[in-house]
Amino acid sequence: MESNLRIEAIDATPVTVPMVAPLRWSMGVETGTTRCIVQVRTRAGITGIGETYGGKATVEAIRFLTERFRGMDCWEVDRMSRIAQSFRIAYETFVPAHVYAGIEMALWDILGKATGQPVAKLLGGIFRDHVPVSAYLFYRYLGPSGVGGEDTPEAMADRAEELVATHGFEVVKVKGGVFAPVEELRTLQALRQRLPDAKLRYDPNAAWSVETAVTMLPKMAAVGLEYAEDPTDLIEGMARVRASVPVPLATNMCVTRFGEIPLGFRLGAVDVILSDVHFWGGLAQCRKLAGVAETLQIGLGMHSDRELGVSTAAMVQFAAATPTLAYAIDSHYHDQADDIITQPWVYEHGGFRLPEGPGLGVEVDWDKVRHYHERYLAEGQVNEFFDPHRPGWIPILPLY
Ligand code: MG
Repeated sequence: MESNLRIEAIDATPVTVPMVAPLRWSMGVETGTTRCIVQVRTRAGITGIGETYGGKATVEAIRFLTERFRGMDCWEVDRMSRIAQSFRIAYETFVPAHVYAGIEMALWDILGKATGQPVAKLLGGIFRDHVPVSAYLFYRYLGPSGVGGEDTPEAMADRAEELVATHGFEVVKVKGGVFAPVEELRTLQALRQRLPDAKLRYDPNAAWSVETAVTMLPKMAAVGLEYAEDPTDLIEGMARVRASVPVPLATNMCVTRFGEIPLGFRLGAVDVILSDVHFWGGLAQCRKLAGVAETLQIGLGMHSDRELGVSTAAMVQFAAATPTLAYAIDSHYHDQADDIITQPWVYEHGGFRLPEGPGLGVEVDWDKVRHYHERYLAEGQVNEFFDPHRPGWIPILPLY
């Protein structure tokens, strides 16, 4: 049957949106987020929006794919995914998975608008209409408005209490790998004292050696950990840690593509794989990941890397449609100073509510896009892999 949802044009606009206060992590500092806002137009006049990582390189890769996708039917999300994957290895062209993810997000938005249904329904149906979110808790430098500056266990516990009281979070995830492991253990102990019922997670982004993880994780487990995320590097390192500590391990670093799942599974390295619409190449690929994880009985969570409101909508739609996603998803949303959608997300009872409208359920505020595109042009892409306060810093922490 002839479809009138054929792609006419794809536009991509990079924006840079600042953080309320700079967020510290093991490899640098996140002063903001640079995202590419994608717009797909169809011959039928329906327009879809998507979002993905990056600036200039992402725009160029999207332009490259646009030439291949023009005239194709928006329903052909898997065919286009295959085409995008082929350019990852062929024709001397590199098109990372996140590039197609931004386009595919807009395709789902179009399909939802064309059918009058939320994307979650197209992904298999609405399993939940409220998606729990973890309170992402960073050590922060002081921000321009005097906010931030948490660099002690007490200050982190104060901030966690504030986030829980304001938004109703039931899970707190500490981003570590910034201070000595014993200092970060004290932060977890302070959190446990203040929030006796909260689920706690800890993620040092592989800043620890295997030996440090084997020494420290049992001490952290004593305060109660839902899981530790990437305590050390590589599948082999994670497997050696997991073999000797009774703490579930999650990852968004050592198993980030399908080809890495078999080894991670065979070595018992990972208890929870963190899905990511961008890393894994789109919503259809994330559904495939959910199936693989279910088959292997590996847990499924969701990673965050400073998404704005469009990507957040895709995350919420996917979580709403995925019964086996049994962990509160991550989000940086409460640390970001602004958004580029007309009605920014609001936490309700520690999570996001599935929008009622068709498609992704959010609309872009193009004045905001123009404003933050100017900022992108002035400042360039945010480089989170550097900390100007620690210019010689490398993310390998000694045990004590
Ligand atoms: Mg992580």
